[in-house]
Amino acid sequence: MLGVANRRSIAWAIAKRLADEGARLAFTFQGERIESGVRQLAESVSSPLVTACDVRSDEDVARVVAEAAETFDGQLDVLVHSVAFAAAEDLEGRFTDTPRDRFWMALDVSAYSLVAAARAVEPLMEAAGGGSILTMTYLGGERAVPHYNVMGVAKAALDASVRYLAWDLGAKNIRVNAVSAGPVRTLAARSIAGFPTMEAIVEERSPLHRHIEADDVGAAAAFLLSDAARNVTGTTLYVDSGYHAMGM
Ligand code: NAD
Repeated sequence: MLGVANRRSIAWAIAKRLADEGARLAFTFQGERIESGVRQLAESVSSPLVTACDVRSDEDVARVVAEAAETFDGQLDVLVHSVAFAAAEDLEGRFTDTPRDRFWMALDVSAYSLVAAARAVEPLMEAAGGGSILTMTYLGGERAVPHYNVMGVAKAALDASVRYLAWDLGAKNIRVNAVSAGPVRTLAARSIAGFPTMEAIVEERSPLHRHIEADDVGAAAAFLLSDAARNVTGTTLYVDSGYHAMGM
């Protein structure tokens, strides 16, 4: 599980659901600030491995996967990638003003990390006879959502990466999918300037006129990661009260 920061994290909702269904889960955390919180959560689902990982570092990714191989006898069935970052100043104001270094940082952390992680777990999933990889995306990668800015561009790269990874890894029975979630109040969401407006618009205009909860994403993720979705790959499942289907 990449991307648990605290109990509000979407990755944690997915982890709880998978643990309820009997999965043994390893967790990564980024930075000492959240380490003890993540360790406590991981302990509550009897996780055998909690380890640091900054997805910008190839060494970290390789070490984490080696530790997972050791813990899970060289095999891995699922990988959850629920990681994104952009500088707060780039999630307000104009996308046009995004500087080069922060553009690449957002794409590195939020999109390339899926490619790096998928490549690293490929041998462990192959050893398991196949696997399922899941990432978290948002409609702002397909349409312009004011304030989402560079993160939308990163999600577009992430969405395309899902399709190309699905093609490459399908030959090894490894599936790659995304859940596109509606707005959920998490740590990452707090840095998006227009977040309350995004929530209000979903409530007003989505077919179901209500917000989604992280647990809704957990349920969708559990499906995509399970054998019930054995012929589903390269796709995006929207958990957004139907908002993506609307034209206005
Ligand atoms: P969150 O803040 O709980 O999770 C984001 C995670 O990314 C954190 O655990 C953080 O530690 C991790 N991260 C950031 N930089 C990292 C790095 N360099 N190395 C390793 N980890 C790093 O917020 P969340 O809302 O649960 O976000 C999870 C995913 O869901 C993100 O991809 C986000 O874009 C996506 N998403 C969120 C929403 C929403 O409304 N909250 C909607 C759609 C998609």
